[in-house]
Amino acid sequence: MLIAISSLTVMGIVLGSLLGAAARFLAVQENPLEEELKAMLPGSQCGQCGYVGCSQYAAALARGDTSVTLCAPGGKAVVEALAKKLGVTADLSELEEKGPEYAFIIEGLCIGCTRCIRECSVDAILGANKLMHSVIAEACHSCGKCVKVCPTDAIVMVPVRVTLANWHWPKPEVEHIQSKPKVGYAH
Ligand code: SF4
Ligand code: SF4
Repeated sequence: MLIAISSLTVMGIVLGSLLGAAARFLAVQENPLEEELKAMLPGSQCGQCGYVGCSQYAAALARGDTSVTLCAPGGKAVVEALAKKLGVTADLSELEEKGPEYAFIIEGLCIGCTRCIRECSVDAILGANKLMHSVIAEACHSCGKCVKVCPTDAIVMVPVRVTLANWHWPKPEVEHIQSKPKVGYAH
């Protein structure tokens, strides 16, 4: 009994020491720039940028391998922030600024092929083979990937209805702030 307990204790100490040494000497060094870039991205993992998720896009940005204009859900604000962080200029002329949207399935056009379900990375679509599908609007992160795979064009992106719960005060225009006369007392 004592021998078994002693053996287990020694094994625990040895394995613990080995794991501690491995964690210290084999740790993967994190790139701080990559982490900062990742924090600027929406984190929706939609894949519209052509990378598997936001982390992979951030890694490519940190290496200087890709353009700052690929994140569609982030819009102009994210492109500008990425460009500023990386010290590059970005062409914003072709970026379309859209409000929040969600996918909607037109009942009469759906043939129940299940392609959209397989494409959706956040499980926002409900349905079964040869039955009508529908989208859980609250779960949809507006990537638009299901729209591209639907063979009957049954999916459309529609704007999220503005309610008191999701309305935000619009950001002021920068030019407007700069041109506004300063308020002060006359001397
Ligand atoms: S747009 Fe389509 S694929 Fe993308 S999250 Fe919404 S339902 Fe899923
Ligand atoms: S891809 Fe289009 S037709 Fe196929 S299940 Fe989805 S909505 Fe229906």
